[in-house]
Amino acid sequence: MSSIKKEAERCLKCKKAMCSAHCPVSTPVPQVMDLFLNGEIKKAGELLFANNPLSAVTSIICPHEKNCTGHCVLGRKGAPVEFYRVEEYISRFYLETIEIPEIKKNGIKVAVTGAGPAGITMALLLLSEGYDVTLFEAEDDIGGVLRYGIPPFRLPRDLLDLYKDIMLRLGVHFRPNTRVGSNIMIEDLFPDGYKAVFVSTGTGRPRKLGLIGETLGHVHFAIDYLKSPYAFKLGRRLVVIGAGNVAIDVARTAIRSSHSFVTILHYMGKDDMTANHDEVEMAEIDGVEFIHNAQAVRIMENAVRYVYVKRTVNEDGSLSFEEDYTQVADIPADSVIIAIGQGPSADIVTAGVKLTQRGLFDVNEWGETDTPGVFAAGDIVSGPKTVVDAVAFTKRVFSRMEEYLENN
Ligand SMILES: Cc1cc2nc3c(=O)[nH]c(=O)nc-3n(C[C@H](O)[C@H](O)[C@H](O)COP(=O)(O)OP(=O)(O)OC[C@H]3O[C@@H](n4cnc5c(N)ncnc54)[C@H](O)[C@@H]3O)c2cc1C
Repeated sequence: MSSIKKEAERCLKCKKAMCSAHCPVSTPVPQVMDLFLNGEIKKAGELLFANNPLSAVTSIICPHEKNCTGHCVLGRKGAPVEFYRVEEYISRFYLETIEIPEIKKNGIKVAVTGAGPAGITMALLLLSEGYDVTLFEAEDDIGGVLRYGIPPFRLPRDLLDLYKDIMLRLGVHFRPNTRVGSNIMIEDLFPDGYKAVFVSTGTGRPRKLGLIGETLGHVHFAIDYLKSPYAFKLGRRLVVIGAGNVAIDVARTAIRSSHSFVTILHYMGKDDMTANHDEVEMAEIDGVEFIHNAQAVRIMENAVRYVYVKRTVNEDGSLSFEEDYTQVADIPADSVIIAIGQGPSADIVTAGVKLTQRGLFDVNEWGETDTPGVFAAGDIVSGPKTVVDAVAFTKRVFSRMEEYLENN
């Protein structure tokens, strides 16, 4: 028996499924497993796609240990069911075999700006209901972080091509290399007949450390690097500054594409790192070295200077970190990549849309901005989060957008 089928057969199909309860899009795991085991893979795929159009992606890159797998009841005493493996198989099969139904067009135009997870989800939902969708994207292809951030060894790019093909077959108008907010403004869209605009431009601007040396020629920002790693000449020794998944992706990519010796330097302890434990473990397997509890204080031509950081567990269980400037060291570096987070770019901000202090779109719980007809979801609203969170909120915004489009 195939290992996928074996995994599905282990599922208890709980009435109150904890895996579903802890999934941001409430994936109906028991029903999917039932359909799959009863030989109805297409129906299982349909159910997954209708609930989460990006299930083929999230099944691969979700933090499963925090969501479905982490809450499987079988995991209390033994090995939890790895639903995501079954989901990945069904979802890819569905995308590869999907038959696009005849959808009656309603003639209502909607603009979607940004073709990352939130934009793709919104475009698919709108297209499936017959809306006339134009998808504006600053880059030359769809995917957002899925194509220009997450390394291909974690997420195969042909999946994104399948999504693009489906959207094109559903009739999307795709405008690549078109940055809204540069010459086309949000307010230009309404006179051209768009009834609503959905903004899903993500957080593509890297955060700076604010240190001396950050503009030197051998220093780069993580998301710039991940976009096209082969454009960078990193040299033998790379120091990555940061403690999250992005730092790990940079390190693992650099080992593969530049054969560099990679050290990740960050101020937290190993167990406090924001990166998923699985990813940290994979980085260790790949040969990445870590310097924990170390704060970079200066970037020099061929080294990074850092100080040790004292980690204290407070009475209430919270952590505090204090730099000890008496303990200074240098680590040699031919290149440095800074991976300490991202924020929104400013260029989309037009049409009087209100922003939060962090520069994110200020929306209500339904993704509505103060400007009538302008909605937003994904990282541009939440700040950097996860793909499944972007999908979950986009679905919610879609329901309110549909109401708006019907009544205006
Ligand atoms: C390196 C990295 C690794 C990650 N790993 C994971 C992971 O393993 N699992 C997980 O769940 N999440 C992961 N994330 C987070 C996840 O990718 C994001 O939460 C998700 O992509 C957000 O989707 P989005 O559509 O809001 O934004 P994005 O994916 O950022 O897409 C925004 C799109 O808008 C386009 N755009 C920007 N400005 C404009 C403009 N003015 N006009 C037109 N288009 C514009 C951009 O080019 C981009 O295509 C990772 C993030 C990074 C950076």
